Amino acid sequence: MAREDYEVVIGLEVHAELSTKTKIFCNCKTEFGGEPNTHCCPVCMAMPGALPVLNEKVVEYAVKAGLATNCEIARDSKNDRKNYFYPDLPKSYQISQFDKPLCEHGYVEIETNEGTKKIGLTRIHIEEDAGKLNHDDFGRGSLVDLNRAGVPLIEIVSEPDIRSVEETDIYLKKLKSILEYIEVSDCKMQEGSLRADVNISIRKKGAKEYGTRTEMKNMNSFKSITRALEYEIERQIDVVENGGKIEQETLRWDEVSGKTFPMRDKEDAQDYRYFPDPDLVCIKLSDEYIENIKNNLPELPESRKERYLKDYKLTEKDANKITASKHLSDFFEKATNISNNPKAVCNWLLSDIARILNEKEIEPDEIPFKPEDLAELIGLIEEGTISSKIAKDVLEKMFETAEKPEKIIKDNGWIQISDEGEIRKIVEKIVDANPQSIADFKAGKEKALGFLVGQAMKETKGKANPQMLNTMFREEISKK
Ligand code: ADP
Ligand code: ZN
Ligand code: MG
Repeated sequence: MAREDYEVVIGLEVHAELSTKTKIFCNCKTEFGGEPNTHCCPVCMAMPGALPVLNEKVVEYAVKAGLATNCEIARDSKNDRKNYFYPDLPKSYQISQFDKPLCEHGYVEIETNEGTKKIGLTRIHIEEDAGKLNHDDFGRGSLVDLNRAGVPLIEIVSEPDIRSVEETDIYLKKLKSILEYIEVSDCKMQEGSLRADVNISIRKKGAKEYGTRTEMKNMNSFKSITRALEYEIERQIDVVENGGKIEQETLRWDEVSGKTFPMRDKEDAQDYRYFPDPDLVCIKLSDEYIENIKNNLPELPESRKERYLKDYKLTEKDANKITASKHLSDFFEKATNISNNPKAVCNWLLSDIARILNEKEIEPDEIPFKPEDLAELIGLIEEGTISSKIAKDVLEKMFETAEKPEKIIKDNGWIQISDEGEIRKIVEKIVDANPQSIADFKAGKEKALGFLVGQAMKETKGKANPQMLNTMFREEISKK
């Protein structure tokens, strides 16, 4: 069979660390980093007899996430113990939720080339994170850091509704953006605040049953998810094409070799011997409580997008790109409110600024200057103080020094030459020195004008006002 005869089926289990100030069952700080084992107490270190108390904010944040993803919120929910041994889990069980999760039956809408598609969410539940093992630098064994133990997580489980690598990327980006908008997680993938277990299977197109899936755990970058999926799809097709069978197993993605390796057989729910945590009470939520969270939900990307189409007349494509990131979108709104030029702000953000962010591998919330600085830069172009070409150099400097555009322009002597006499002199000089171009232009070659303007720009190091150059060249040539 040809590769095109196979269909890919993907489902994700996404873990997001919640940005509550304190941990899920104790008062320790959730802050990332810090000296190992300094954000711990008897509860999160699993001292015998220490009792957990559920942090109400965790429930609130999880309900927010559920409402933002169209889930039904359970009025009656509970915490269960998921038993397993691992050195980063001193209790030997993780407090999670088994048969009564807080949220169920939701969906996330994604924009694909074939239009809008709903990805179903099976459930969202709350649980605690484990500690961290440090394997490197010690020579003899590993050390455990429990700062992360007990940091609250939500696990968002999707239905196997995703049908391609690209849809996976779009879905994950959309989910990340929703969590950022409702401010329940900082979603920093490089710090592990957002990570995904990726489940994948293949089947013949048109088949009713799903194929056997493999699972790649703890993936924490978009790039590695894409690479791992592309590899795993090829691998599974090869196995089937060669008459083999896919084993249901957990795989490890190796970034260096670009391959997946078997880690262990797939475990079943019964292996974990789940049971209700006797130290914790049930979670009962009233209609008023849920209603109240619903009414106070921040604006979501969709409604922002609609607003940008209507109020700022952005194109659908641009509005999608800007609202994909809350930080970018906040930046856009602030700069637009000052500059009153949404189109220009949008263009700067999506072209030059996006390019620099990409080069520096940083996120929109790490832009070193302020929205008002971008507004100022746009203003300086509008009033003719600098050309848009020089503005690009100013922007580069803004990224380096975070200084105000006006100061950068002054310090570098970049103010645009708009003095008529001065420009006229340059134009006359260049016209005299290039008789051939003048003749070409008169013979109808518009391109020759571009060459002359280019010469003038060279002469002034890009500082001459381009509109004035254009007009004056035409005037001077017509005199000849
Ligand atoms: P577990 O909790 O043991 O990992 P679940 O049955 O809850 O297993 O499924 C976990 C994830 O795997 C879900 O996101 C689901 O959509 C996905 N999934 C289930 N079956 C398949 C399949 N055949 N192919 C791809 N993904 C699947
Ligand atoms: Zn603690
Ligand atoms: Mg799983």
